[in-house]
Amino acid sequence: MKRIAIIGGGISGLTAAYTIDEKRRSGTPVEYVLFESSPRLGGVLVTDHVDGCLVEAGPDSFLTEKPWAADLCGKIGLGDQLIGSNDSERKTYIVAKGKLVVMPDGLMFMVPTKIMPTVMSPLFSWRTKIRMAAEWFHPPRKASEDETVADMVKRHYGSEMVELLADPLLSGVYGGEASGLSVRAVLPRFADMESKHGSLGRAMLKGRKKMAAVATVPARPLFTSLKDGMQQMVDALVARLDGKALKTSSVVQSVIRQDNGWIVCAGYQSDQFDAVIIATPTHAAADLLQGADENLARDLGEIQYSSSVTVTLGYDEKVRRSLPPGFGFLVPRSEGHRMLAATFVHNKFPHRAPENRALVRCFLGGARDEQILQASEKEILQIVGSELRQIVSITAEPLFARVYKWKSAMAQYSVGHLERLQRIEALRQRLSGLALAGNGYNGIGVPDCVRSGTEAAGKILAEMGMWSSA
Ligand SMILES: Cc1cc2nc3c(=O)[nH]c(=O)nc-3n(C[C@H](O)[C@H](O)[C@H](O)COP(=O)(O)OP(=O)(O)OC[C@H]3O[C@@H](n4cnc5c(N)ncnc54)[C@H](O)[C@@H]3O)c2cc1C
Repeated sequence: MKRIAIIGGGISGLTAAYTIDEKRRSGTPVEYVLFESSPRLGGVLVTDHVDGCLVEAGPDSFLTEKPWAADLCGKIGLGDQLIGSNDSERKTYIVAKGKLVVMPDGLMFMVPTKIMPTVMSPLFSWRTKIRMAAEWFHPPRKASEDETVADMVKRHYGSEMVELLADPLLSGVYGGEASGLSVRAVLPRFADMESKHGSLGRAMLKGRKKMAAVATVPARPLFTSLKDGMQQMVDALVARLDGKALKTSSVVQSVIRQDNGWIVCAGYQSDQFDAVIIATPTHAAADLLQGADENLARDLGEIQYSSSVTVTLGYDEKVRRSLPPGFGFLVPRSEGHRMLAATFVHNKFPHRAPENRALVRCFLGGARDEQILQASEKEILQIVGSELRQIVSITAEPLFARVYKWKSAMAQYSVGHLERLQRIEALRQRLSGLALAGNGYNGIGVPDCVRSGTEAAGKILAEMGMWSSA
């Protein structure tokens, strides 16, 4: 019987456990133990139910175009629970000079693909609009080195585009800033499009036309989620795992390499395994691996993480009627607010709030505001209340409020991330029976984490000769 330890019970670790459990159930001689430091499983996937509303503490959905999370849901019996975002209401605003300005139609992740809506938009200055037109003639460029997203976007559209769109969009997804994130790791398609086509606008348009020509089914919603919230994924996974193998409130302090396996030390106990999957944030993986390989630990420890705070506020019907249509707004740094973005949940996923409730979810923190973690709940609610008053004129007190703090939970892929990953992979391969999973490597979203957990389990099972296709 082969024994595998999984460290970290977020979606990455749970997916790894599920992959191994499938093998176990089919008669493969393998067993596992999953160690999770907190009392609950699921990591940042947490759903609460408050006053008839569904409140997501961490992720509220995932990108539909990345298939791995939805595929997993299908396998664990949640196929009929998948729902799409209400894209008929899909409209996002940018706060510009204190006012909500709608993002022009045809913008594809900050790349304009429709001329008229962009020309008519009050969001951009004429200078930027002229840059957008000139961008159409940007020559192909094969960059020899990685660069920041800000540098690339500036080269194509100028700095106003970085401030108004690139930064707010990236802080929504990564809790990071365009000037700190690697274009090759975060927007690999952009780097590819630039080297082949030069102009990002032309490349995007070409891609869209190609897709429209082959499309035989109606466009899918941008975001997918679960009827009863993201926690449903956690609950369904846990229900399929071997209950005796799940050790919550078990902080792993170290993993020690031996000739024929690994020793995992948690609390006062240590246990021997043939292999270990570390599915924690990379800063925790670095601590665990310090004794096994200093160089690997150093590279893992150099991947930066940012912290975030989500605040969900429930309001009455009057507030709901006063709010604009659309999914919500993004706040550029130049506006001087601490809020990074807000989602009108009642529009994005209407069934998550009764018709007589407005549900507003706000994001704070990110790479530029770690200090927000030190603020008390009361102080955070004061900040959010005051900024919502200024931005969307909400003066009413919320009927309920929930604040969730996530310390060092969002990986920041800085310039050189892909090279660092290559070094990490080379060092990992020298330690047989070790696999790494989580959001610090090849994608931060829930689908990427599901894929990383599956692949990590596949690598270990393949090493043991138990998985031919991994
Ligand atoms: C506020 C927020 C909003 C987000 N929104 C979205 C979204 O809308 N869509 C999307 O796709 N993605 C979103 N993400 C990103 C995505 O949710 C995460 O990247 C993903 O869930 C991370 O999963 P994970 O299992 O890799 O890590 P985690 O969920 O962080 O789990 C790691 C686990 O390891 C445990 N651990 C750490 N050290 C040890 C140790 N020494 N011993 C034992 N256990 C340990 C931790 O307690 C934790 O439970 C969001 C993230 C956050 C924080």
